[in-house]
Amino acid sequence: MSGSVLTLNAGSSSLKIALFRPDDEQPIATGMADRIGGDCVLTVKDASGTILSERRGAALQGATHEAVLQALVTILTEVRLAQDIAAVGHRVVHGGLVFTTPTLVGDDVLSQLAALEPFAPLHQQHNLAGIRAAQRAFPDALQIACFDTAFHRSHPFVNDVFALPRALYDEGVRRYGFHGLSYEYVTQKLAILRPELHAGRVIICHLGNGASACAIHDGQSIASTMGFSALDGLPMGTRCGQLDPGVMLYLLQQKKMTPDAIADLLYKQSGLLGLSGLSNDMRVLEASDDPAAKAALDYFVFRIRREIGGLAASLGGLDALIFCGGIGENSRLIRARVCSDMEWLGIAIDPVRNASNETILSAQLSPVAIMMIPTNEEIVIARAAFGMIDRQKALRLRGQGDLPPL
Ligand code: AMP
Repeated sequence: MSGSVLTLNAGSSSLKIALFRPDDEQPIATGMADRIGGDCVLTVKDASGTILSERRGAALQGATHEAVLQALVTILTEVRLAQDIAAVGHRVVHGGLVFTTPTLVGDDVLSQLAALEPFAPLHQQHNLAGIRAAQRAFPDALQIACFDTAFHRSHPFVNDVFALPRALYDEGVRRYGFHGLSYEYVTQKLAILRPELHAGRVIICHLGNGASACAIHDGQSIASTMGFSALDGLPMGTRCGQLDPGVMLYLLQQKKMTPDAIADLLYKQSGLLGLSGLSNDMRVLEASDDPAAKAALDYFVFRIRREIGGLAASLGGLDALIFCGGIGENSRLIRARVCSDMEWLGIAIDPVRNASNETILSAQLSPVAIMMIPTNEEIVIARAAFGMIDRQKALRLRGQGDLPPL
């Protein structure tokens, strides 16, 4: 028995955990904390989804990430699940140019990751708060960081650069791309399900509250709609997607908006929410007959189709189009609209397969395979953490001591 792995995904106001046993890709427990810093609610469920514990109230009101993680650990301890956690795997949004594989975190790595905070100000600090909290909660466990940017470091120069003075590229102003853990999972799954497609030209559309699309050739990312930040590309729940930089200048110079106000506008008030004035939730928008909700969906679909065209051009053709994420996995309407009148690109969806949410969605004679593959970022993190535990064990068996945390 090599110990369990806890995965931790710490966002600005939420924290998700999953607990894995070796050789089992179904988590034995999952936990979720919502509205951290405010009216926080904590829920821990077992493998069947039964609630083991739910907490809210004064003790969690305004609690920090660390206090919330501690409360989750207390629950896991009470239900006797926390005793043999050998590693904690963390989702970290930004690995910069250096971190391209899962990395054991020590003080040096932590300070290098903290130096990347200006590149992802709304995410990185919370990811690192999660690591620090886990170090204190599990001082003997390995802490492993898995990066959303890592999958995209294979981009060629033309998909890595902006047409800005070269010095900015050299200091790290690049098209990093995100959602890499999701793309890695789906790509690995495709290699199992359809190896001949995995070897070809693939576009994956990760459509959730965050949304992006990625062009992949022979398992390697060559282009992504997300760029320097997680704002670029497709419109999202509350993020704007692609924007003319002139709009930023207008907001700054003419509207005299502060940088913080602009950040709030672009990250939290735009996208589907901003366009519809109604909601960032696709289910609400699909159910609405408000013309503004329809306009938001029209724009969402239009941008996805436009990006598919561009990514297919980057790939020099297309063999498979894959949908994942909450919208990609569930919204028959969005998938149908994205794929309609796309025969010119070889895309022909089967309405019956699409309506019944099957894995293969393409029509019999569609030259491009259309698929729906539910994503699972936690498993990618758990696999990396178990891999690190095994390396540690092998070193110890050879009498070579422990893996040095960097
Ligand atoms: P995620 O961020 O991947 O959890 O995805 C969240 C998005 O998926 C939200 O916009 C939800 O409205 C959307 N979603 C989840 N289930 C459905 C569904 N059955 N139909 C349409 N959209 C859905």
